[in-house]
Amino acid sequence: MKKTFAYMMALPIILALNGCYNDAEYTNFVNSDKIKIVATTSIVANFAQEIGQDRVVIYNMIKSGMDAHTYNTTPADLKYLKAADLILTSGLELESRIEDVLDSFSSSKDKAFYTLSDGLDSTDLLEASHEEDEGDEEDHDHGLYDPHFWLDASLSIKAVTGLSDFLATYRVDESEYFASNLSTYVTQLEEVDTYVGQKALSLEANKRILLTTHDALSYFARAYGFDVYSLQGISTDGEISTTALNNIAQTAKELNVKAIFLEDGLSDKSTRAVIEAAEAINYNLSIGGELFTDTLGSAEDSADTYVKMMKTDIERIVSALA
Ligand SMILES: [Zn+2]
Repeated sequence: MKKTFAYMMALPIILALNGCYNDAEYTNFVNSDKIKIVATTSIVANFAQEIGQDRVVIYNMIKSGMDAHTYNTTPADLKYLKAADLILTSGLELESRIEDVLDSFSSSKDKAFYTLSDGLDSTDLLEASHEEDEGDEEDHDHGLYDPHFWLDASLSIKAVTGLSDFLATYRVDESEYFASNLSTYVTQLEEVDTYVGQKALSLEANKRILLTTHDALSYFARAYGFDVYSLQGISTDGEISTTALNNIAQTAKELNVKAIFLEDGLSDKSTRAVIEAAEAINYNLSIGGELFTDTLGSAEDSADTYVKMMKTDIERIVSALA
């Protein structure tokens, strides 16, 4: 009898443990009276936190160090998506693999959607570069435009302004609160935009050349005066050809570029292959460290917020290329 009672007491606990991931966190999320937000990347989540502050509770799907282009939803993501009031995405087909899943929630009347790139003008956008190599054409996992707009801080200002405007219509009584948070945050973004620009100018023009794995840095390059050469297109999907490896190595040698950068969340295999390809043509190319492009990094890397990430990236770039 006692045994049965103990078993019955334990049963709901076992069910609860099996049913949820990070139980306490999920329970807090579901029961919160704040705006329940599911944000795709850690950068989107950080923007939402800055504008929403203590009026929002956020679940971040694509966390630091994950690859946004090839991310697939987890069972935990689906639970949070079901519970969310607002689903926030970066847009421009960055989250191409999970678009269908996100769309499946769009018919729910109790959910709102906002896409950060909606805050940009079409003239802000760069067209997606298309790989010139012999890669198979059907593997086009990206859209018309390059999605990596946030790496130009002036475009991040437009994106968070759009988000603040959206939140102000979503919760009209909190509109002044969001506007005030926006104003504080925009000041920080303007500062980082200036900082990155000045740091970049500390490099001689012929040294402002970025070699990277995937083409995440075009907006960054346009804003801060770099030329960028990358192994892959704007998505991380697809194989890298030997031609592409050799071309980057040749470019490094011709332009006397000291370093190639790793990207957080992506394999370093191809970067090391470029270094070998450079060695084969008697050019010594080094690794310039890791850059944070599509998701935030850790606190140890001083890249756990967008503002810190931008500072860390430009500091690493300048110290590697100077
Ligand atoms: Zn990317």
